[in-house]
Amino acid sequence: MATVSSVTAEMLRTLPSDAARQVQWGFADRFDLQMLVQSTRAVARGPVARLVAAGGRNSHDWTPAKNELLDAFDGAGITAVFMEPEEGGLFAGPKNLALALVAFELAWVDGGAATASLAGCLALAPIHERGTEEQQRHYMKLAAPAQPGENRKPWRGAFCLTEPIPYVGVDTGMLNGKLRVVAWKPGEEPILQVEKRGRFITNIGFANFVTAAVDSDDEHIKGSCLVILEESDPGVFDRGTPTKKMVHQLSSTGDPIFNLRVPASRIIGGYDVKDGVIVPRYNHSEVIEAVFRRTRVTVGVMTAAKLLSAVEPIIRYQRGRFRGAESATPGSVRYELGLQAREDALHRLVDVWATGEASASLAFAAARAFDALDPLEKEMDKLYAERGISGPKAKAKLLREVTEQAVALMQLPVGDVLREPLNSDLLLRFVALDSLADVLCPAAKLWNTGWGAQTMREAVSLMGGYGITEDCPGFLGNKWMDAQLEATYEGPEAVQRRQLSVTMTNPMFLAQFRGWIREMRGIASAHPGTGACALATAMSLWLWTLDHLQNSKDADGGRLYQSARQGVTFPLADALCWLVAARCQILDVLRLEREGANDASLAEGLPGLINFLSDLCQVQTARASGEAARIAAELVFGYNRHPAWDEAGTRGCWREDELDLLESFIPGINSYALDVVKGDGSHPQKAGPCVECHAAQPFLALHAKLDGCLTGSRLAKDRAAEAISKIMIPEALDYPA
Ligand SMILES: Cc1cc2nc3c(=O)[nH]c(=O)nc-3n(C[C@H](O)[C@H](O)[C@H](O)COP(=O)(O)OP(=O)(O)OC[C@H]3O[C@@H](n4cnc5c(N)ncnc54)[C@H](O)[C@@H]3O)c2cc1C
Repeated sequence: MATVSSVTAEMLRTLPSDAARQVQWGFADRFDLQMLVQSTRAVARGPVARLVAAGGRNSHDWTPAKNELLDAFDGAGITAVFMEPEEGGLFAGPKNLALALVAFELAWVDGGAATASLAGCLALAPIHERGTEEQQRHYMKLAAPAQPGENRKPWRGAFCLTEPIPYVGVDTGMLNGKLRVVAWKPGEEPILQVEKRGRFITNIGFANFVTAAVDSDDEHIKGSCLVILEESDPGVFDRGTPTKKMVHQLSSTGDPIFNLRVPASRIIGGYDVKDGVIVPRYNHSEVIEAVFRRTRVTVGVMTAAKLLSAVEPIIRYQRGRFRGAESATPGSVRYELGLQAREDALHRLVDVWATGEASASLAFAAARAFDALDPLEKEMDKLYAERGISGPKAKAKLLREVTEQAVALMQLPVGDVLREPLNSDLLLRFVALDSLADVLCPAAKLWNTGWGAQTMREAVSLMGGYGITEDCPGFLGNKWMDAQLEATYEGPEAVQRRQLSVTMTNPMFLAQFRGWIREMRGIASAHPGTGACALATAMSLWLWTLDHLQNSKDADGGRLYQSARQGVTFPLADALCWLVAARCQILDVLRLEREGANDASLAEGLPGLINFLSDLCQVQTARASGEAARIAAELVFGYNRHPAWDEAGTRGCWREDELDLLESFIPGINSYALDVVKGDGSHPQKAGPCVECHAAQPFLALHAKLDGCLTGSRLAKDRAAEAISKIMIPEALDYPA
């Protein structure tokens, strides 16, 4: 790992290769995924890029040219990723990382194209997560691309939750979609009437089926559910007018109106009949929770791809900026380095690149976590069945008990044999991974898209005026705007912050977080150039702050950490995301260093790449730690009332006459005393006496320590900047502008 001397010896030579990324993002042993990346890339940098370059984004309509992309997705195997082999899919097993890689490759060129592909999976996801076996078999097969010799078009789907104002948006409970029984003959399937209006529904321009959230409008149906609608169902299947989006124009979006008759067997997950009432097995909240939990990760991946895709076009622009001018002759600094002769231009690019690395690492870590969780969830379903545990309450009770045990085990030192069940016991493994996934998913969606959108603006600005033109190589202006949609759909930032404010206080997550602090210190001792030590200190600061806020009140006696107090919980969630992302980035670089050395195709430039990526880690941890500390300081001190120059506020102040008296015993005390109130009541000109922070002493100590931990981070930035000024890049971008 990076040390100053090794960095001077080995510099970054080229942009990170595919082989390096495979190791970093954990799919070096997955040849199937590597092939998928290549075939998706061919679509992204071929038909998708050509359509964007030809102005395909200039229309809101779903045009024939856009429609052709769907065939390209089918041909490349993208559509089949979501299915199992027996359903016509590509490969067996969990698909989260595979879908994340598809999203990454498509969004590298265009976020709308990525969304068009992913929205099909989103439509199927309710069926996949909670559908009956029959529903799964039926719709997955229909949606799978045609097999050789088959003459059919795959069905496309749309997911319809959001409704026109004033109904479903961030608040998914305000459902207006209606479900009624219109016919129910004895011994036959009930026939239901579905009324649903959607708002901003992706894929609606061409969807053959829709999974729609509706609520009961009939005493014979209990509660809400998701229901499958087909375009040929009797009634109204109106796709509505296309949304006038300023983003993601390669996906289709509109406000549909449905008024259809469907059999009750379309209720996702099925239903029971109790006392003459249809009781859906899953209400709409249960279904969408299971769905979004996974699909939001891929959205986070998309913004990460944008940031990393910006690096090469920016370097090329900066280098060539002055070429052709009379004064910029080959060999001159102006000719060779262009804008890269300027420190700020390089430093800002370092920031963009570091953010891209951290966000990619966070999102891929989340995708891998869900890949690991998927089989555990299936095993847990079996365990519940064996133990006769059913219903959310009984399951939650069991998990609470197990959590206590797992937390206790996690407090044991690493290496203690008593910790072993954490690796072998199903229940313990499940609660640990589940609580982790509960944080990683919203963190990836929130931080990658929110901070990613801000950082994309920086990327655009580095291209000057070119950045906000349609001609900008890498379509950076589009990507900046597109990032804002990624921060919005599938639940905007408020939704992710709300979820994090709950999941980040799960004792199981916090036990792991404490382990991360020890882990980062250990890494720092072996790899001091990564910023891991600063990160460990920032993590301790965050933990102290959470504990403080959970146990403190504001100046008026109001509880600080509570769900209604978003001013407390939301910023603290933001702070956590910075730290989690920086940790993932460090771990990925360590994996590359560890495993890359065994890979002949990587060996040559590996030390330089590791040094560079380590410097980016240090840059990022400095930023992340600083952000977390800034937020924490505001929360710890901001809810106390500042003392005033009144009776209560001046109680602890020195009086001038007291001081004069003391001066004769303790010479010089006058010059140390602050906040001296004079005999006439006058006082120093400031807001009030300075605050005494006895309760926050540990915080102040950690904060001061953290400041010191940033030592060297700017040197790392200088080194990274220098490396960027020397890196070799291809002559031209591999997709059109
Ligand atoms: C191009 C596009 C494609 C889309 N595709 C789909 C799709 O395929 N299917 C689908 O169902 N939906 C889709 N959506 C809808 C999208 O998911 C919603 O727009 C999004 O969830 C936000 O809902 P809203 O627009 O009603 O915002 P609102 O609910 O009005 O929220 C506006 C802002 O208010 C604040 N806010 C709202 N509630 C709270 C709260 N409780 N606490 C704190 N702050 C709050 C937040 O800052 C939020 O960002 C799409 C949207 C777009 C633009």
